Amino acid sequence: MSARILVVDDIPANVRLLAAKLSAEYFEVLTANDGPSALAVAAAKSPDLILLDVMMPGMDGYEVAQSLKADPKTRHIPVVMVTALSDANDRVRGLEAGADDFLSKPVNDIALFARVRSLTRLKVMMDELRLRHMASGQIESSEDVVGSAADVQPGRILLLESKDILAAEVTGYLSEAGHIVERARTGEEADKLLDAAAPDLIIVNLRLAGEDGLRLCSQFRSKDITRHVPILLIINPDDLEELAKGMDLGVTDYLIRPFDRNELLARTRTQIRRRRYHGQLRDLLDKSVSMAYTDALTGVYNRRYMNAHLDRQVMEIADTRKSVSVIMLDLDHFKDVNDRHGHVAGDEVLKEATRRISANIRDFDMVARYGGEEFVIVMPNTDLDIATSVAERLRQSLESKAFAAVEAGTSITVTASLGIATTSDPMETAESLLKRADNAMYAAKRAGRNQVCAAEAECGLDSSGTFALAP
Ligand SMILES: [Mg+2]
Repeated sequence: MSARILVVDDIPANVRLLAAKLSAEYFEVLTANDGPSALAVAAAKSPDLILLDVMMPGMDGYEVAQSLKADPKTRHIPVVMVTALSDANDRVRGLEAGADDFLSKPVNDIALFARVRSLTRLKVMMDELRLRHMASGQIESSEDVVGSAADVQPGRILLLESKDILAAEVTGYLSEAGHIVERARTGEEADKLLDAAAPDLIIVNLRLAGEDGLRLCSQFRSKDITRHVPILLIINPDDLEELAKGMDLGVTDYLIRPFDRNELLARTRTQIRRRRYHGQLRDLLDKSVSMAYTDALTGVYNRRYMNAHLDRQVMEIADTRKSVSVIMLDLDHFKDVNDRHGHVAGDEVLKEATRRISANIRDFDMVARYGGEEFVIVMPNTDLDIATSVAERLRQSLESKAFAAVEAGTSITVTASLGIATTSDPMETAESLLKRADNAMYAAKRAGRNQVCAAEAECGLDSSGTFALAP
């Protein structure tokens, strides 16, 4: 995923410094040196995130943020205020102007990338939600599917904090803002609270008395009920090394003590929004907007919906210039499964294959049953390298474990052939993209099945016989 970031600052050296850091991490960087040009670039290039200097001559950062949030074309773009001022009043002003988060100058790398990743991921999810609403014909244009930061309804928060004074402080701030806070002193207490329902956010103090905060974070990630719940980690200034580990384990954001009320509330709000959008994406599928868009057997989207969705994705390329990838996945020798084990067993295999595919794609990827034993995975904002690793993960998830058959005691080994096609060409159509993925899938079949092949690449079994993407 390569997100596009607009850096706005009146001092060219500041712009260059931030641009260099972001480019080194493969973000695409746009720049502006004053308010009016920032607004023009934001409207013309639809960035995924704006890093906005507060102090600028003429139009300052607050005014720019206000204008961005007032314009329906730009109001969904997350804004991070970059400020040398640490005064709480400035933060309040920033929030009132519509900023989603803050960074203090000089900008620390861990802080920068934590904010950038957290907010760009949120943006990808919002965009995906918008497109899916549009594809299902629910709305014409979807400005109001995703509201602004200020519209977020309060949420249920699980707070893991062993010290009473700190717990009271955090609970106080969050309750004032309308959130419902349930506090646990230990991992065990947290588990009991989680029996009821998943919270919208989990806040964990890294330094819990007698317990490893990181271990608990990793447990939250592996449990079904909390797998998709964002985690905000509270750390001390000298815990940066453990923070880096935490981010790898799936911690979504963090706060360094001492933090102020507004910072806590801004981070909380961003994470709850993320949780809600994720929930909406799932609901769209779970309740299946309309039966007309889902496949009755497997419950995933059907071909008709996928076609509408992919059309939208490909049309967006003209504006975003970002790659869209598709995977065409066809189960190998599926006819044999039906012939040898019967159609009931065949249906069970299709359902289990769908579960494995769904579990191995990302929140914003979309899977559809394309026909008989053929599936399409649409991946917005995804280049060929990432698409290839997703495809390989899917291939392994099918092959790695046998499928239970209906007859007692039998199990079936199922593999798949996968073809990938990627485009960032605004002239390419959805139809041609699918055709290229389909051709690549047939190339994988010809090369011996149970493998991944990219469009226009030469495919064949490599020496290990498992993976075959030729250079
Ligand atoms: Mg300045």
